[in-house]
Amino acid sequence: MHLQQDQPDQSTTLLARLEDTACSFCDDGRLVREEYKGNAAVVCTNCGTPAAQIWNEETSPSDATTVAVSPTDR
Ligand SMILES: [Zn+2]
Repeated sequence: MHLQQDQPDQSTTLLARLEDTACSFCDDGRLVREEYKGNAAVVCTNCGTPAAQIWNEETSPSDATTVAVSPTDR
């Protein structure tokens, strides 16, 4: 398996940069790394607003087709 990985994990870098910064939605909040609806995210400790979240892009778009393949083909 050869996956093209010429870039470091940008998603993680984005969250790392936003982590521990001030919330832009309220005055007193600070952003911490958390899971938000199953995605990696930075969420405000004060108002709970996700400043950024990373959707999982590794999910196969055609997994329904894979399920439909019968194991007893012959
Ligand atoms: Zn906030």
